Amino acid sequence: MRGTVLYGPRDVRFEERPDPTIVEPTDALIRLPLTCVCGSDLWPYRGIEPIDGPTPMGHEYVGIVEEVGSEVRLIEPGQFVVGSFFASDNTCEICRAGYQSSCIHRQPGAPTGAQAEYARIPLADGTLVATPGLPPEDLIPSLLAASDVLGTGWFGAVAAEAGPAKTVAVVGDGAVGLLAVLAAKQLGAERIIAMSRHESRQRLAREFGATDIVTERGDEGAARIKELTGGLGAHSVVEAVGTQESMMQAIRSTRAGGHVGFVGVLHDVEIPGEEFFFSHVHLHGGPAPVRRFLPELIELIWNRKIDPGKVFDLTLPLEEVAEGYRAMDERRAIKHCCVRDRTDPPLPARRDVARPPPGCHRV
Ligand SMILES: [Zn+2]
Repeated sequence: MRGTVLYGPRDVRFEERPDPTIVEPTDALIRLPLTCVCGSDLWPYRGIEPIDGPTPMGHEYVGIVEEVGSEVRLIEPGQFVVGSFFASDNTCEICRAGYQSSCIHRQPGAPTGAQAEYARIPLADGTLVATPGLPPEDLIPSLLAASDVLGTGWFGAVAAEAGPAKTVAVVGDGAVGLLAVLAAKQLGAERIIAMSRHESRQRLAREFGATDIVTERGDEGAARIKELTGGLGAHSVVEAVGTQESMMQAIRSTRAGGHVGFVGVLHDVEIPGEEFFFSHVHLHGGPAPVRRFLPELIELIWNRKIDPGKVFDLTLPLEEVAEGYRAMDERRAIKHCCVRDRTDPPLPARRDVARPPPGCHRV
């Protein structure tokens, strides 16, 4: 098959790779009709997160099951499935409590890399959720979004206890932040403040349910949130960036007794103890247990109640994945979406170009 490998900072190559095979009897092999680049892929891409030799890339996936191992009981060849970035058994005590991304048997969700034509998925029965049937093509981008950015934004909103009668502020206007806005709306929040200084992202935030936009950041942003909330701060704040500035912006935007849901991967963040002690703010977050939310998210997408696939604003053929990284790195794209055509003949496929699903738009 062909797949994406990162060799070093800004050195992404799309190349021939070994075909994934069933390694454990609990594995499944899936064919990927569509794949995408995550904001978190930019950390190793920029060289901020060191890699240990050439690394297959991609951890968000949906696909058609091609083959399952001998111990897989629930997932069958031919099903269309959605997974997430960690594989989990979904049966241990931690999974049953809803924290599948800390499963005691946790593994990478797609160890062979998901920016590729095929992927091996460990612990298939616990990790994968089948859709009610083969999805219409225009739903595939939204299902792909459920695999990571929607599930993560959703967890951020849940961790921040977004809900009816709450004012929710969202720090970060990447795909996760924008989808946290969508989640807050679905969870019934009364007022949703998106913090963004980019016009196209503000527009999408409003489409997803934002009632207010704040363009200031850092302490100015927090001051503006206080101003908008009678001096108190928001009840719920989603932190979807992961830097020192954004984390402090989130904590300082939250009222006493309020909740911060942090889902941006934290890099070198230090929270001053004394300030935090006196803030009375709850902090909860971490790698989103996307698996917990998948059945509900798939149902909302299947019934066309939400359209999270709108965060994909750049569509490229898979072999141009390196350009997708560049576009994300330069913030020309919110969320890059590489396309393959699932109606193509059996894989390995010919050169796949064009026919992007309607949910993906070239900008
Ligand atoms: Zn588990």
